[in-house]
Amino acid sequence: MDMAQTRTNLFGLDRQGLRDWFAQAGEKPYRADQVMKWMYHRHVTDFAQMTDVGKALRSKLEAVAEIVPPNILFEKQSTDGTHKWLLGMDARNAIEAVFIPESSRGTLCVSSQVGCGLNCQFCSTATQGFNRNLSTAEIIGQVWVAARHLGNVPHHQRKLTNVVMMGMGEPLLNFENVVRAMNIMRDDLGFGLANKRVTLSTAGLVPMIDRLSEESDVSLAVSLHAPNDALRTELVPLNRKYPIAELMDACLRYTQKRPRTTVTFEYTMMKGVNDSPELARQLARLVRKVPSKINLIPFNPFAGTRFERSDESAIREFQKILLDAGALTMVRRTRGDDIDAACGQLKGQVADRTRRQAEFRKKIEKGVADAA
Ligand code: SF4
Repeated sequence: MDMAQTRTNLFGLDRQGLRDWFAQAGEKPYRADQVMKWMYHRHVTDFAQMTDVGKALRSKLEAVAEIVPPNILFEKQSTDGTHKWLLGMDARNAIEAVFIPESSRGTLCVSSQVGCGLNCQFCSTATQGFNRNLSTAEIIGQVWVAARHLGNVPHHQRKLTNVVMMGMGEPLLNFENVVRAMNIMRDDLGFGLANKRVTLSTAGLVPMIDRLSEESDVSLAVSLHAPNDALRTELVPLNRKYPIAELMDACLRYTQKRPRTTVTFEYTMMKGVNDSPELARQLARLVRKVPSKINLIPFNPFAGTRFERSDESAIREFQKILLDAGALTMVRRTRGDDIDAACGQLKGQVADRTRRQAEFRKKIEKGVADAA
């Protein structure tokens, strides 16, 4: 093992990566498995405490590696049990992660980028602009912080049962780092989550949905929010590049690769914007061909937004039309809105956003394959 100038943060390597890293250092690959168990099952970050790893190797590891979680800048628990962390990613940027406990499961909403450049009109994160992608270590670090806080032990005391890549950022624009982090989430030596309990949510990057279906095996959610191109382009500008018909075809291909899986369509309900009975009928027709379910999300207002939450009666009527048409449709209960942790309300601290935002837009215009 050579002395490295900067130490490798082992949170950045999945099992294969860690095994390769040990092998390159002339150590047996099973050492990687031992270290992973200490990191993810026992929440140990100090090599000195890894008692089944020989003393000489522990000293070597201390010289070239580190296990560093994100810095907790602030945390807050909602009256409904929802827990939010503001996590420092570097000296100037911070992101948010949110844990939502329910009777039968505990879901952590994880961020993939500092800010976001896709500019969805109803999204609080979008108002901050984009700064940078998160590393694998910064993504998995969010899960680790929550798991340690909860006293989660994979396979024994499982409080964290689901992860949704639905926080700040578009995960498919940070493809490699997100896929590697999701590998650790699903690994028995990592957080041991079942494939279907890790969900990636995208605004609809069609080529990257296809790539995801080749390289990972997680659940897919799509932020749809409108059933026709005119309205969707207004709400989700990315729709101009990847219109609804192409997006639906990509979703269908995704499900065809995985029998018995469904795509979740997220639909944020905004008063007088996308909540009419006619749009519900359009949506029912649209999703018919794709094995799917629909999540209706009452809009969560944030400072400066021009949108309002749909009335309860409009949401119920919209849901009824979909259900009557045979589309499995749920209304997501709003959680954590007293601490701004509800869906679409996440906001961290984003530095240097203007220049990077312009660069990001150019990349999107050029094509997402370059941007990923
Ligand atoms: S909804 Fe998602 S993709 Fe759209 S701007 Fe917000 S974080 Fe980005």
